[in-house]
Amino acid sequence: MAKVFCVVNQKGGVGKTTTCTNLAAALSLKGKRVLLIDLDPQGNATTGSGVDKRSLEQSVYQLILGEASFDDVVVRSKEKGLYDVLPANRDLAGAEVELVDMDERDYRLRHALEPQLKNYDVVLIDCSPSISLLTINALCCAHGVIIPMQCEYYAMEGLTDLVDTVKMVYQGKNPDLTAIGLLRVMFDARISLQQEVSEQLKEHFGNRVFNTIIPRNVRMAEAPSYGKPGVLYDPSSKGAKAYKAFATEILSKLK
Ligand code: ADP
Ligand code: MG
Repeated sequence: MAKVFCVVNQKGGVGKTTTCTNLAAALSLKGKRVLLIDLDPQGNATTGSGVDKRSLEQSVYQLILGEASFDDVVVRSKEKGLYDVLPANRDLAGAEVELVDMDERDYRLRHALEPQLKNYDVVLIDCSPSISLLTINALCCAHGVIIPMQCEYYAMEGLTDLVDTVKMVYQGKNPDLTAIGLLRVMFDARISLQQEVSEQLKEHFGNRVFNTIIPRNVRMAEAPSYGKPGVLYDPSSKGAKAYKAFATEILSKLK
């Protein structure tokens, strides 16, 4: 049965999508069966996985609303190192409003996903930069949460809200959601402030901080324009190596 992780941070531009696509690719290279769910109307995880979001006939939007089946929507991986994708595009922005009045509105994704879990080892969900109904849907499917963050002055701000939301979902909606981990990304060891914030995170959150640190690496930023995760675009880059190490760390925690 698959383990489901959602990659969440209500801030934008903190490396959620980069973490999703690269972790998905790194796990796939290790022989794991991976599904990536794009739950952000911006569709960056879709594009960054080589799927054209403009030409989609069906997307995760129709799946959540019950208008399409999983098989209608899923884009199967065609290449080594790639993975299956439930793609998203701008349509998904409408789901937020439409979900409000729906039955089981927090569990729409969970119900759609449950029958598929036996076909995967890991499912990753890329969330939008907000704590919205879509994000709650993601949390209601998840066993664990990965929070990517930059080690900057405001890094901790908002973190308490996010951790409280995860606790609330655990207590009231999804008792399977038992793990939470902070991932330091876009790290530049030459900047002393980043070193300091990194230390503070360790002090404050202890073993909830992943050991792996993802460095700032321009190859990671270039990769999406080639429709590939950095791990496949430049496998020997520092960023790719770090994401492969992160995949190993995640798998060791699953054991
Ligand atoms: P989010 O999904 O949280 O909005 P992204 O993953 O899209 O964040 O990352 C924001 C920007 O930073 C993107 O342009 C991305 O290519 C870039 N980026 C992400 N991780 C790295 C990294 N390790 N090194 C350099 N650039 C990165
Ligand atoms: Mg994103």
